[in-house]
Amino acid sequence: MYIVVMMLVIFIMNQFALMRNHLESIVAERTQKLKDKSKLLEYKTEHDDLTGLVNRHYINKHIKGLLSNQNIDNNRIYIAFADIDSFKKINDDYSHDVGDEVLVQIAKVLQHFCNERLIIARFGGEEFLLCFVNDNIESVVGICNEIREQIKTIDLNHIDTELQITISVGLVKAHVDSLHKTLISCADDNLYKAKNNGKDQVIFSY
Ligand code: GH3
Ligand code: MG
Ligand code: MG
Repeated sequence: MYIVVMMLVIFIMNQFALMRNHLESIVAERTQKLKDKSKLLEYKTEHDDLTGLVNRHYINKHIKGLLSNQNIDNNRIYIAFADIDSFKKINDDYSHDVGDEVLVQIAKVLQHFCNERLIIARFGGEEFLLCFVNDNIESVVGICNEIREQIKTIDLNHIDTELQITISVGLVKAHVDSLHKTLISCADDNLYKAKNNGKDQVIFSY
């Protein structure tokens, strides 16, 4: 009788252990799924769906962070707006899908230039915002022009052999007391000048 009771107790305890293991694995699996979902959500709040570049929200936060960081020399921060020239005509002449493809191709070129000193975001529509840190003006102007030249060489022969993409760039230098809003608006002013001056160029001001 005693042996039967003991076997029964051992059997019940084993069943409980099995159930606990099963429940623990369900909880672990669900926790992992939640973690994956929150990572994906975080990625989506910081990246542009079409191009995979970081988005406006991300770069605004990044620039504000740089400007308020006492350990960073603001005199070595530069902000540039790069805007595709006559992009509306590409949509009108070929289609919105072709326009999207051009955006993706341009983003690929831009991605190639990103590193710890240069962050590039799709700011909206056909506008990209570049944030240089720890750099000097000769190098920054050089990089902007290199990007401009590389974008011109994007191969779009499968769409139209005559099609060539150009961009205009408005660049500004930050100062110790620069405000995020002021920088963006000055870069935009220089972009406007580049457009009025015939497009396909970089305009810089201190
Ligand atoms: P400018 O040289 O003065 O910059 O002229 P633009 O034609 O590039 O500028 P405009 O502001 O007149 O037109 C921008 C166009 O970009 C209009 C809009 O439909 C298009 N656009 C914005 N976002 C997207 C997008 O995600 N995909 C596509 N295909 N087009 C877009
Ligand atoms: Mg444009
Ligand atoms: Mg624009």
